[in-house]
Amino acid sequence: MPFSKLGLSESLTKAVSELGYSKPTTIQNKAIPVILQGKNLIAAAQTGTGKTAGFVLPILEKLSHGKTQRKKRIRALILVPTRELAIQVEEKITLYSKHLGLTSLAMYGGVDEKEQKQRLIDGVDVLVATPGRLLDMYGKRAVHFEEVEMLVLDEADRMLDMGFIDDINKIIDRLPEELQFLLFSATLSNKVRDLAKSVVENPHEVSI
Ligand code: AMP
Repeated sequence: MPFSKLGLSESLTKAVSELGYSKPTTIQNKAIPVILQGKNLIAAAQTGTGKTAGFVLPILEKLSHGKTQRKKRIRALILVPTRELAIQVEEKITLYSKHLGLTSLAMYGGVDEKEQKQRLIDGVDVLVATPGRLLDMYGKRAVHFEEVEMLVLDEADRMLDMGFIDDINKIIDRLPEELQFLLFSATLSNKVRDLAKSVVENPHEVSI
């Protein structure tokens, strides 16, 4: 099945074919239509399966139809466990969104905040962040969550292993009530399921 059959528009299918992706991977076939329908989703998928494009492509598709950014505030928030993953996911977003005119930023600790703050002021549609730095920046009123429509917890099991549960809960408490919730994890352990359950009831579930 080609990417276009999954409900992705030409700007995105063109970007992925330019990257040499000939057809969607299994997780992409399963996750993309569900996310485009606006459903909450928990997915068991390991690194290397194409899971990143599995959530990034439908998010970009949805944002490209959404209202124009008047307030220049974050509309999709992707939480990741490490700075390396933040950089990697944001690089993919930049590649996939090249024909769309959406903006993204990777935010992580250990670097000067100034540039990240300026980028937020300029306007960011999709923010990829590690939980600690995001809370710091929120505390400093550098990020605003009022316009967030979609939340992704990527590598949720790793985030829990790294002790981010309190930070994640604090972030979720500050997000709008009405939110599309997406969780990706190598395994859907009880802990991961409990985290999902604390946010949404009966999410759609996929595994590969
Ligand atoms: P991930 O599991 O998200 O870390 O992706 C693993 C690698 O697969 C990345 O380098 C992607 O660029 C690549 N990839 C993702 N989707 C596809 C696809 N449909 N066809 C070929 N390569 C892909």
